[in-house]
Amino acid sequence: MTADLAGHARELAGWLRDNAERLAPWRRRPPGSLAAAVEHDRGLLALLHEAGWSRYGWPEQAGGLGGPVALRAVLYDELAAADVEVPEAYVILETLGPLLTAFAPDLAATHLPRFLRGEELWGQGFSEPEAGSDLAGLRTRAEAAGNGFVVNGQKIWTTLGQFASHAAVLARTGAPDSAHRGLTMLWVDLGQPGASVRPIPASSGRDEFAEMFFEDARVDGSRVIGEVGGGWAAAMYLLQYERGMYAWLRQAILHRRLREVAAMAPAGASPSSLAALGRAQRVCAGLRARSRTTVLRLSAGENPGPEISVDKVLLGQAEQAVFDAWRQLCWEAMAVDDGDLSSTLREEWFYSRASTIFGGAADIQRDILSDRVLRLPRGAR
Ligand SMILES: Cc1cc2nc3c(=O)[nH]c(=O)nc-3n(C[C@H](O)[C@H](O)[C@H](O)COP(=O)(O)OP(=O)(O)OC[C@H]3O[C@@H](n4cnc5c(N)ncnc54)[C@H](O)[C@@H]3O)c2cc1C
Repeated sequence: MTADLAGHARELAGWLRDNAERLAPWRRRPPGSLAAAVEHDRGLLALLHEAGWSRYGWPEQAGGLGGPVALRAVLYDELAAADVEVPEAYVILETLGPLLTAFAPDLAATHLPRFLRGEELWGQGFSEPEAGSDLAGLRTRAEAAGNGFVVNGQKIWTTLGQFASHAAVLARTGAPDSAHRGLTMLWVDLGQPGASVRPIPASSGRDEFAEMFFEDARVDGSRVIGEVGGGWAAAMYLLQYERGMYAWLRQAILHRRLREVAAMAPAGASPSSLAALGRAQRVCAGLRARSRTTVLRLSAGENPGPEISVDKVLLGQAEQAVFDAWRQLCWEAMAVDDGDLSSTLREEWFYSRASTIFGGAADIQRDILSDRVLRLPRGAR
């Protein structure tokens, strides 16, 4: 990081040390109910907003304190380094916050401060039962009506959707065969008539995503994010943060987990499980180095474009390497220990299985790299 960022990081680390007692409740997320964890996190969001730390790197017009985007990366890194759990809400923030500030400044001015204070949570309404990797095939329709749209359709796998007040919904405003050209991104109030949200039971026991249903849900024209018909461009912009800044946020957490896993390793651990830990450390170091470059590029206003898929592939590898190392080193703790740390690691082991799926599946990322970055001929793969 540059000298200024390093100075900011030192100041923040000092604040975290000085406020260690106040921050103690957030060293570990309460295991069990996701609703309780989301509620618990709100207190930390409010505290970080009140102290100003979560406002750096966001535009002043949207309630931030300005400065480069990389200041947000410093926050995630320092929280994890100080053994404070990075609020899950920041994952959504890094996905939809940059979208709103770049494509809908008025919406950002209203909603970003509420999110930063822990008063609102949002959902990302892209995937549908028949459209995940093939997002351009989505079917949710937004028909022009008066000064806005009427939305009908279904979304699925919306992370934390059951706790969201609003969602960024990618809908078809063009002809059914208009593919990516006929899409528009809308900011939908989930509390309105015609919108309903249902959590999806997960095998991990942690129902972290939801389905959203829209039946004649009305959306005012002022709630278009970007341009009518410009939904694809808005989604591609957002993905750079979902794959880039998110990878940085996760690598910060993964490095904390690595420290914890290494400390749990039993005396006399087998050479193969120690090798798994070594591999996890190597993969996480690679992710951090790559992700640092990406964050600095985003911070300089660059659009890394399809190259961001490298970060997503590395993230999937690092997520799985860390929790597989834990499983190998501490099999008993994984299977039966209900202590706070084991519960957290078990939840994250489950989550790590999904890391090669969400935000664009790993096979798709490799295809993007092959086609659009390396420009390999199809027969050469
Ligand atoms: C934990 C988690 C959180 C999520 N959160 C959200 C969210 O908040 N909002 C949201 O909109 N979505 C969310 N998703 C959905 C996610 O974006 C999709 O699951 C993902 O895009 C894959 O789509 P799919 O599930 O329809 O799988 P499919 O597209 O059906 O893919 C299934 C498999 O086939 C492979 N495949 C598909 N097409 C090709 C191809 N052309 N070439 C090679 N291989 C291919 C894929 O790689 C994958 O392995 C989340 C998913 C998870 C797991």
